[in-house]
Amino acid sequence: MPRIELLVIQPTPFCNIDCRYCYLPDRRSKAVVAPETLFNLFSQVFASGWVGEFLSVVWHAGEPMVLPIQFYREAFGMLAELKPIGLRVAHSFQTNGTLIDDAWCAFFAEEQVGVGVSIDGPRHFHDRHRLTRSGRGTFDRTIAGIRRLRRHGIPFHVISVLSAASMAAPREMFEFYVEEGIEQVCFNVEESEGDHVSQSFREAGLEAAYYRFLNEFWRLSVTAPGKLTFIREIEHALGQVIRPAEVRFNNQLVEPFAITSMDWAGNISTFSPELLGLKNSAYEDFILGNINHDALVDLPLRSNFIRMLADIEAGVEMCRERCEYFSVCGGGEPVNKLAENGTFASAETIYCRLTKMRATDLVLDALERVRDSRSVPREGAVRAEFGR
Ligand code: SF4
Repeated sequence: MPRIELLVIQPTPFCNIDCRYCYLPDRRSKAVVAPETLFNLFSQVFASGWVGEFLSVVWHAGEPMVLPIQFYREAFGMLAELKPIGLRVAHSFQTNGTLIDDAWCAFFAEEQVGVGVSIDGPRHFHDRHRLTRSGRGTFDRTIAGIRRLRRHGIPFHVISVLSAASMAAPREMFEFYVEEGIEQVCFNVEESEGDHVSQSFREAGLEAAYYRFLNEFWRLSVTAPGKLTFIREIEHALGQVIRPAEVRFNNQLVEPFAITSMDWAGNISTFSPELLGLKNSAYEDFILGNINHDALVDLPLRSNFIRMLADIEAGVEMCRERCEYFSVCGGGEPVNKLAENGTFASAETIYCRLTKMRATDLVLDALERVRDSRSVPREGAVRAEFGR
């Protein structure tokens, strides 16, 4: 039986800005999900028996904050009424941060919403790609939103898309986060997804540059304790490398319905959330059905789902057979395999070489240095290695 761990809901495809690397095709559409569609989603998800004790709900795939706060009050209230007793639910937003005001901060605090803000570092990195429709930079509005979150004491993390230029400037990036009181950071690289072809992936020496960036960024963070409390790439790699042998690695991206995504119109997809909204004739645009007309529990029987699953599983098998990083990766991200290799039934991508292989190498290299100097390597010692 599938187990839904993450529900990604597109409240609207609309975004108030127009980033150069954005893969969302309908970001000019002002369509909004109907209350009936949310009702059908929540009631079907909870009736399916596919949910465990905890469900994460991410409002994304457009700019969620273009809708009024009242929309979310009603949506959260509906979910709370329909959910089984005892099910813990955590809501989160991934936002460009430009619309954060005091009322939103009060709402985030009241509902304990997890907030992720997209900012690519200092102004001259951020404003290269994160632009308004008229081509103006959005840095001022985004940093104003972040400062407001801080003033209200709202916990948040940032996601920064690295470019060749910012990868070459780890100290400047580090100092920017520290100066702005940003404590939790996640790094993405500009990916090839759908029709979007990554410019970064064409850069020579990208993998070495990524490794050097993370290495130096981690070193700087250890030398300034308490400033950066979470660097996702390091934490993930550490967590996987120093994982008890009996704990199985769970790659949600290749588990059917572990991530279940719904667009504003009620169309349902699974595996990589980015698939929802991408066009593809071989898999009927990755749409398995519509929550307003179809039974969620019947979707695993759909022919396009069966084709997707077979191809994704074939890709995971290739990874298992060929890749020495399989135990810390679990077969990667289907959307990147499709974009870079033309098929889910494939293994290595530039994306995985960066985010899985080089990040893991970094932690393994630190572990090696600890092994050379201590008999039993421990996570704390690996972290401390960068502080000495
Ligand atoms: S690192 Fe790449 S090749 Fe290796 S298991 Fe992950 S996706 Fe597959």
